Amino acid sequence: MKIIEFYKLTDDPVLSLEIFPPQASYPIESLFHTIEELRDLEPDFISVTYGAGGSTRDRTVEIASSIKKDFGIETLAHLTCMAHSRQEVDHILETLWDRGIRNIMALRGDPPADAESLEMIQREYHYAWELIEEARKKADFGIAAAAYPEGHLECQKNSDDIIHLKQKVDAGVDVLISQLFFDNRKFFDFIDRSLQVGINCPIVPGIMPVLNAKQIKRMISLSGASITSELLKLLDKYGDLPEEMEKAGIEYASRQVEDLLTNGVPGIHMYTMNKSRQIKEIAKNAGL
Ligand code: FAD
Repeated sequence: MKIIEFYKLTDDPVLSLEIFPPQASYPIESLFHTIEELRDLEPDFISVTYGAGGSTRDRTVEIASSIKKDFGIETLAHLTCMAHSRQEVDHILETLWDRGIRNIMALRGDPPADAESLEMIQREYHYAWELIEEARKKADFGIAAAAYPEGHLECQKNSDDIIHLKQKVDAGVDVLISQLFFDNRKFFDFIDRSLQVGINCPIVPGIMPVLNAKQIKRMISLSGASITSELLKLLDKYGDLPEEMEKAGIEYASRQVEDLLTNGVPGIHMYTMNKSRQIKEIAKNAGL
């Protein structure tokens, strides 16, 4: 089933969960155990990220197909095109289709850690919209893509970024899933700007709870998300107290989700970081 159907079929918010494949040296069974626990939340679908480094890439297909076949949950397999040739992408799309995967999250990706700049890579793809066009031609996939409420880090002007987003949607996107953010006002403002340029597909907020003080610095540098004064206060107060910080992070994310739901978002996409207890607590607090 294509994931867009979930957003069309019901007025209830769609719950999606994102997991990442563990490193090759790490047993895959532990992730399956986490999925089993997350299953209690009755997610509409689970998305599986595509490793930037390459070592976990094969696992994306394996995990996504197991979520569907063994757990009976719809799945969305992420795929990045930046470091692939057209021939490789064609082969991956074929494999996904053959393994019963009907939804892909079509991404450009980031340069591999060992590439000094984007220009150094022999690139056949430059932007996600090229992959979206390709996947559309290849088979009847449901297609999701990434959206950036506070703008993508590489794009100097938010007004340009939203034009690029519109181009991506026009290439054949069914659903947009957002980058993490901590300030819901930024998301609502982004929705308004998206509507103004004619983006009419569902835009689903992506929520990543802050579970420890160290993690937040990395989250901010990778995403460019702005931090709220409320979250800063929590970090000041609980930065050196791991248990209290986790509790405060769960409460913050719960309130964020509750507010988004009150304001009528089509669904919630939780970046689970492969954690089940904390995600279940947030969902319960927010009435999901
Ligand atoms: P694009 O949409 O191609 O945009 C990239 C940049 O190019 C933007 O600055 C945009 O403004 C600009 N641009 C686009 N079109 C044009 C144009 N025509 N002319 C000029 N500039 C243009 N990464 C992974 O490696 N694996 C994952 O599984 C993964 N999952 C993700 C899931 C979500 C929900 C999100 C939000 C991000 C995810 N990422 C993942 C990160 C993503 O790969 C990076 O953010 C990457 O830098 C951009 O990918 P994109 O698909 O958004 O690129």
